[in-house]
Amino acid sequence: MKKLPELIFAAGKEGKVGYAYSACEFGDDLIAVDAEHLRQDIEDFPQVSEVEIVRHYTNLSHLNHSVDSGFYPLGSCTMKYNPKINEKIAAFEEFSAHPYSPHHLVQGNLEVIKDLEEWLCKLTGMPAFTLTPAAGAHGEFVGMQIIRKYLSSKGEPRKIVLIPDSAHGTNPASAHFAGYEIKEIPSNEEGILDTAVVKEHLNEDVAALMMTNPNTLGIFEKNIVEIAAALHENGSLLYMDGANMNAFMGIVRPGDLGADVLHLNLHKTFATPHGGGGPGSGPVGVAAHLKEFLPVPLVDENKDTKQFSVRYFNEGIGRVKNYYGNFLVLVRALVYLYSLGRENLDKVAEDAVLNANYIRKKLEPLLDLPYKSRTLHEVVFSDKNLNVKTLDIAKRLLDFGIHPFTIYFPLIVHGAMMIEPTETESKETLDAFIAAMKQVLQEAAENPEILENAPHHTPVRRLDEVYAARKLIIKWQKEENN
Ligand SMILES: *Cc1c(COP(=O)(O)O)cnc(C)c1O
Repeated sequence: MKKLPELIFAAGKEGKVGYAYSACEFGDDLIAVDAEHLRQDIEDFPQVSEVEIVRHYTNLSHLNHSVDSGFYPLGSCTMKYNPKINEKIAAFEEFSAHPYSPHHLVQGNLEVIKDLEEWLCKLTGMPAFTLTPAAGAHGEFVGMQIIRKYLSSKGEPRKIVLIPDSAHGTNPASAHFAGYEIKEIPSNEEGILDTAVVKEHLNEDVAALMMTNPNTLGIFEKNIVEIAAALHENGSLLYMDGANMNAFMGIVRPGDLGADVLHLNLHKTFATPHGGGGPGSGPVGVAAHLKEFLPVPLVDENKDTKQFSVRYFNEGIGRVKNYYGNFLVLVRALVYLYSLGRENLDKVAEDAVLNANYIRKKLEPLLDLPYKSRTLHEVVFSDKNLNVKTLDIAKRLLDFGIHPFTIYFPLIVHGAMMIEPTETESKETLDAFIAAMKQVLQEAAENPEILENAPHHTPVRRLDEVYAARKLIIKWQKEENN
């Protein structure tokens, strides 16, 4: 069992020094800080050496679970392995140009942006992309603003956005922030949207439908073409949440299915580490009629001179992010695409689906599977018929060094366990997970206290989650909580 290190205060001792500057050749005045600017309010500020502080934080970091340290089947989040070559190339000095550099000095970087844009257009069948949004949810917000601007320009601002009950949680939030009223529509017993049900909800106030496809049950929305047609006939648009694109990348193009707006998560499908809130990227692709509403800046290529230029003004929604978005995430995505090659992208999707279905088949005899439709890159079980809760199973998995799957989402499944292994895991890893699940479920039947008191082998045992949320303490305070 990994131990929780002592607080940094334990290592502190009066007079220990982390780093000392030698005398400044320009005289002390230049570096002296006026007494009024020196903090006086940190009582017992630990005085430690450099090596002590490095070890302290390194040891703390080892308590974190990560894709590099273990299996991480967090559904919908696509915690795939991110090849190290992406990091290596993104670290090239040449890519770290100042964002205000004159364009003739950063032609290579502009080419990266244009090249990635073209890759994404080809892969998705969307005629144009913006690469500036900083995350999936940000992409949704940008996409909804594009829809709003487009409809207003036609003189028919509409009020309502339809969202299925199986959509990702960020969808209603983004539509709401873009000023829309949300109307939830139910999915059917197959776990997908019925064209007839969508049609019932259509009227002249419906701006768009936001559809996560494959949806959060891992099921392909097979009526999408019909639904798109019904929306278009009504003057409404189809927004497709493509954060789950690893389920059919290289095989199906959302543009061919009728999507008007699509966002992708580069930090999921195209392999940038995420999960700690680090920089992400949520490019948004649009159909031809929405092209003029894309946010700026946009990179243009003169095909004759091979020169790249940047456009800062158009009729669109303006700027949504400083500079060019999270540029180094774009570099990683492009490296990922080139290192795999177009011909291997189908294989990514096939393996993602194969791995998820392997787990489905092995666990189906043991767990309730509320939706029997064919699933793609993830599978959602329920804790119905069990004498323990999903939370207990998740906590017990921690003792096996496995990050739990996504729990209690989507809401339409009782005690949901949403499992997404991703394509980068070997059969051995999947088998180890399945064996762990079997053991946990056997314990649940024979000795449920083991689960109810889990985890047993982690540095911190089970927390009182209600208390932790209500009385969240995230700062050390001397008297009360150390
Ligand atoms: C992850 C995810 C999002 C949100 O992406 P963020 O980058 O976390 O904002 C939206 N939709 C789906 C389906 C997702 O899986």
